Amino acid sequence: MKGSNYLEALSKTKEVVFDKTGTLTQGVFEVNGVHHNHLSEDKIIELAALAEIASSHPIGKSLQRAYGKELDRNRVTDIREISGNGVIAVVDGIEVHAGNAKLMRQFDIDFIECHQTGTIIHVALDGEYAGHIVISDVLKPTSKAAIANLKKAGVEKTVMLTGDASRVADQVAAELGIDQVYSELLPGDKVAKVEQLIGEKPAKDKLAFVGDGINDAPVLSRADIGIAMGAMGSDAAIEAADIVLMDDDPLKIAKAIRISKKCLRIVYQNIVLALGVKFACLLLGAIGLANMYVAIFADVGVMIIAVLNAIRCLMVKRL
Ligand code: ADP
Ligand code: MG
Repeated sequence: MKGSNYLEALSKTKEVVFDKTGTLTQGVFEVNGVHHNHLSEDKIIELAALAEIASSHPIGKSLQRAYGKELDRNRVTDIREISGNGVIAVVDGIEVHAGNAKLMRQFDIDFIECHQTGTIIHVALDGEYAGHIVISDVLKPTSKAAIANLKKAGVEKTVMLTGDASRVADQVAAELGIDQVYSELLPGDKVAKVEQLIGEKPAKDKLAFVGDGINDAPVLSRADIGIAMGAMGSDAAIEAADIVLMDDDPLKIAKAIRISKKCLRIVYQNIVLALGVKFACLLLGAIGLANMYVAIFADVGVMIIAVLNAIRCLMVKRL
């Protein structure tokens, strides 16, 4: 946590907004199939992996892994990554477009929709459609419990924002029990959405956004509390966030909220205790009933009780 003010804000969190890829899912995609391809499956994957050679996006990294062999950087030139859409690069002199339906529409390439549920990477070679790669990601094992625990920790609404297709997004949200889903968002749309959600809620309630920083660093800084994945996330995310989860485990968010609530409760208890005892001692002194022992208790005694009470912050129940 980058400051005690975030600890305090966290205790007032009523709404938690998640990014999907890399946050609720592992961000490690497996290839499930290649459809409508004119070239061989291996060749399509090879060209896509080469086009993604410079990408740090989980999809790019997964395609590089799916190809499995050493990628020769010298075969690729003119790389352009369009965030929230895909990549364009020249591989062996062939212009490769690899990305979602938005990318295909943007370049007026006719593409074939896929009937399978999954993240679809359409591939075009020199502007001609060459098929699509169906990839899918798996949920983090703790994501479902993380959402349930947030509810137990007093969060009223959970929301998921993603640039991925609505079919995949709805399936993930239903599986995890997330209240609201917004899909097919560009990185800029995510900022607008979070601003809208912040505007809709009462000002005293806080909104937290949890992301991996790949295409969502601006959202991390816009939310009341930005929570970043520290292990897999980007440096930009760690920089932009207020709270960093060192092990990328979403369960820790509910735990952090419980810690923050407990800390604040103890802070208020100590303030009331210290002032209460001191005022009582003053009153007793004013009417001539206080002696030296009472005065020492009101000063050092209260301090020791407050310190002992504060130590309870270290003990937060597991859920
Ligand atoms: P998310 O919200 O799930 O984290 P992003 O905003 O990072 O997703 O990306 C949204 C979509 O844009 C992806 O589902 C994918 O279709 C496409 N996309 C983004 N980057 C790439 C890339 N490097 N290669 C292929 N497709 C990409
Ligand atoms: Mg992302």
